[in-house]
Amino acid sequence: MADTANRYQENIVGLFYVDNQCIDCDLCRETAPDNFARFDNGGYSYVYKQPQTPDEEARCKEAMEGCPVEAIGSNGPKTQEELDALLKAK
Ligand code: SF4
Repeated sequence: MADTANRYQENIVGLFYVDNQCIDCDLCRETAPDNFARFDNGGYSYVYKQPQTPDEEARCKEAMEGCPVEAIGSNGPKTQEELDALLKAK
């Protein structure tokens, strides 16, 4: 199960995120290309845009359920303030 404490900093603020268990398998980027991208310098995926439509949200959920190592979470920080608090708690 993904953990907000281990989310990559490249993830945009919002519910969906990728954490440090990602093995760069490409599934999420194939499933939800409008929301997931590859961080080439790190060799992992991250959420570059939170879902804006029901279709995008369904694809993000599908990616989360399909991730082989459960590196995708949907309980991320909803606001910058929540993200700041998360980072401070580290
Ligand atoms: S599906 Fe999971 S392991 Fe594969 S690239 Fe996406 S986050 Fe990483």
